[in-house]
Amino acid sequence: MTYLTEERRMLQEATRKFAMQEVLPIANKLDPVKGEIPMALRDKMGEMGYFGIKMPQEYGGLDMGCFEYCLISEELARAWMSVGSIIRHSMANSIIPMSAFSERQKDKYFQKMAAGQFLGALAMSEPGTGSDISGLAARARRDGDHWVINGSKYWCTFGDGADFLVVIARTDPNVDPARRHLGLSAFIIEKPRGGWPPGIQGHPIPKIGYFGWNTCEFAMDNVRVPAENLLGEEGKAFYLVTSGLESSRAQTAARAIGLARGALEDATAYAKDRVQFGQAIAGFQAIRFKIAHMAAEIECCRQLMYSVCTKIDEGVRCDTEAAMVKYLATEMAERVTSEAIQILGGAGYTTHFAVERYWRDARLTKIFEGA
Ligand SMILES: Cc1cc2nc3c(=O)[nH]c(=O)nc-3n(C[C@H](O)[C@H](O)[C@H](O)COP(=O)(O)OP(=O)(O)OC[C@H]3O[C@@H](n4cnc5c(N)ncnc54)[C@H](O)[C@@H]3O)c2cc1C
Repeated sequence: MTYLTEERRMLQEATRKFAMQEVLPIANKLDPVKGEIPMALRDKMGEMGYFGIKMPQEYGGLDMGCFEYCLISEELARAWMSVGSIIRHSMANSIIPMSAFSERQKDKYFQKMAAGQFLGALAMSEPGTGSDISGLAARARRDGDHWVINGSKYWCTFGDGADFLVVIARTDPNVDPARRHLGLSAFIIEKPRGGWPPGIQGHPIPKIGYFGWNTCEFAMDNVRVPAENLLGEEGKAFYLVTSGLESSRAQTAARAIGLARGALEDATAYAKDRVQFGQAIAGFQAIRFKIAHMAAEIECCRQLMYSVCTKIDEGVRCDTEAAMVKYLATEMAERVTSEAIQILGGAGYTTHFAVERYWRDARLTKIFEGA
């Protein structure tokens, strides 16, 4: 099967050019100083349509599938994983299916989301709740035409920088403990970009990579949300977030593959340039074996990712294969980025070269989106 049609190749090439020219130099400059993804870059990404890849054309989106989403994600993550990730935050590309939004919400938000002018942050995890999302403790209770939300959230990437939060909270505390995945609901909380809305106090969590934005913890104290900001059906948020897992796990694989490819390309270039014992180290068979193995592992994961994306776009259920490619690609990315550091020797252990960044970011891909 030819996965890469002419149109897809053109899209891949255009994104590769964009990533290498517009993203990589900024990543190399800002990641070492923990700087934020600049607004000017976000605007350019909006012009390229990257925030609305899966959004219907009527809202200004590209109306493409999961395949194109992952193709673009690999290219952007090759330059900077945080940039490959921020496209998820339009929510049009995210874990939340677009069908969850009401007609009113679509009219209000979709155009701005597709342009990258209205980006969100998903607040699911909590201090006591990670993998077991049915156990989350944040509560929302109905008060007239509002919901009132209380509780704490942890690991909310872009929480401070976003224009809105999608908060998952328990709306039914009386469910059968054996069926506690029921009774959870999702809410859109609009907020000022760069700050927190009334009733929320938050701050960044210190982390070892994934720079370009903050990952935050925050506390909600009687946060009032209009009833119309309920996202999807009341009590069914568990299905909302899990139904999007296939495509978001494929995209996590794409980001891991992008990072590994960056490491492979940088290590290959370095090996051709670095001279020891009177010759370029790329001439040593042991280095060549490493590079060949890295390339083979990357291609293997990419082919599985293409297969998963194709199934998703054809509407064929593939949650098992999506979990498999997420697992294999992220394990692979950690190995390959570490091997790249090895090929660079001492230089790989400095912040003068990007391979250490790929390694730090690859480590994260094994943790989020299902540890
Ligand atoms: C940088 C970063 C950004 C993130 N961004 C977001 C975000 O934007 N929004 C959001 O909601 N969350 C976010 N997360 C949270 C992320 O999704 C969780 O970290 C992840 O789900 C794992 O949860 P945990 O860290 O609590 O680990 P835990 O669930 O406590 O797991 C700890 C370890 O136990 C293992 N484990 C757990 N259950 C089992 C089991 N049943 N069997 C065997 N082993 C098990 C896990 O695999 C893991 O190795 C982010 C996390 C990080 C680190």
